[in-house]
Amino acid sequence: MGKENNTFDIYAPPPIEFASAKGCRLIDTKGREYLDCTSGIAVNALGHGHPHLVETLKKQAEEIWHLSNLFEIPGQAKLAKRLCDNSFADRVFFVNSGVEAMEMAIKNARRYHYAKGNPERVNIITFEGAFHGRSTTTIAAGGQAKYIEGFGPVAQGFINLPFGDHDALKAAIDEKTAAILVEPIQGEGGIREVPSQCMQGLRELCDEHGILLMFDEVQTGVGRCGELFAHQLHGVEPDLMAIAKGIGAGFPVGALMATEEVAAAMVMGTHGSTFGGNPLAMAIGNAVLDVVLEDGFMEGVNEKARSFRQTLAELVDTYPDLVEDVRGRGLLIGMKARVTNLELISAMRDEGLLTVAAGHNVIRILPPLVITDEDIRDVRTKMIAAFDAVRAAQKA
Ligand SMILES: *Cc1c(COP(=O)(O)O)cnc(C)c1O
Repeated sequence: MGKENNTFDIYAPPPIEFASAKGCRLIDTKGREYLDCTSGIAVNALGHGHPHLVETLKKQAEEIWHLSNLFEIPGQAKLAKRLCDNSFADRVFFVNSGVEAMEMAIKNARRYHYAKGNPERVNIITFEGAFHGRSTTTIAAGGQAKYIEGFGPVAQGFINLPFGDHDALKAAIDEKTAAILVEPIQGEGGIREVPSQCMQGLRELCDEHGILLMFDEVQTGVGRCGELFAHQLHGVEPDLMAIAKGIGAGFPVGALMATEEVAAAMVMGTHGSTFGGNPLAMAIGNAVLDVVLEDGFMEGVNEKARSFRQTLAELVDTYPDLVEDVRGRGLLIGMKARVTNLELISAMRDEGLLTVAAGHNVIRILPPLVITDEDIRDVRTKMIAAFDAVRAAQKA
């Protein structure tokens, strides 16, 4: 039977067609406006149509799009230096997505121990509820049955532990352990934060056993949580870190960041990427940092985050039958639902407010970092309308 739409039926989007976008607003083909608190799942950090990004893309398109890593790529050294100057890292390798950055992180961790004469150290400890991407390896790392089932032999070398079980963690470390991998705040997993004390504990445990600490900051990174990287909220540094979503702000860019000692294991020929770090991607990545690293930008994000969270907390007080808490850091916000999260998300969409579902029945609210006070007021109005509609439907 023929199909109207020849794309895989992997997603089931609502019947809305967006035609244009500006700032935090999306406009559909009927002219209806939506407030975007999805940011393309924490991607559109600077909102839609940011003038500096648009200008940069146009200018770079007229110079060079793509070269491959056969040649020195304009912008790679500059972006790598800026990422390193503002973090623990000494070296950066550019890829195109979160999963690619995670794949390389896993390879680098194992190769580090191999290069040190400990090839038996291959196991990576991960945590329940984690999400590290959709490759055959990273679904094993995440350990979630719903993503693993039906895809053949499960990649070996991942030990998935309960979230927050310190004793299980200590018991799991042995002579085959290569690294501990964690999201400072689980995104897909329901905006679950690793407490500061546990972050410190992870670092100490890794140092004690000579294993690597790897952070997956694909979702939390690039200003989303109120610091350039979420782990900087805790003063704990990893050995390896994957970033992606926000750094391209809508252009596919990912990166693995590493210390000198760890990166040194990835010698010539051990890894590669055809598209990774191409001139267009690097121009955009640099343009994103032009804005995010500007004096006062992060202060602005934190100010907006405070008033946004205050607004949401008040709604939790007003609608305790529908939502029970506000969680997360900065503008990586979760609201735990008391009815099914999808019901509230759908009601909000009907009112012109877009949010994302996450695990543990949480609604993820991920506005662009450039959200305005007026946008926040509109979020409040739309949320109230949606929550009232859900209440009214319950009574009917
Ligand atoms: C989105 C995400 C990934 C996967 O990124 P893709 O670009 O979709 O491959 C990995 N880890 C975390 C924490 C993510 O949020």
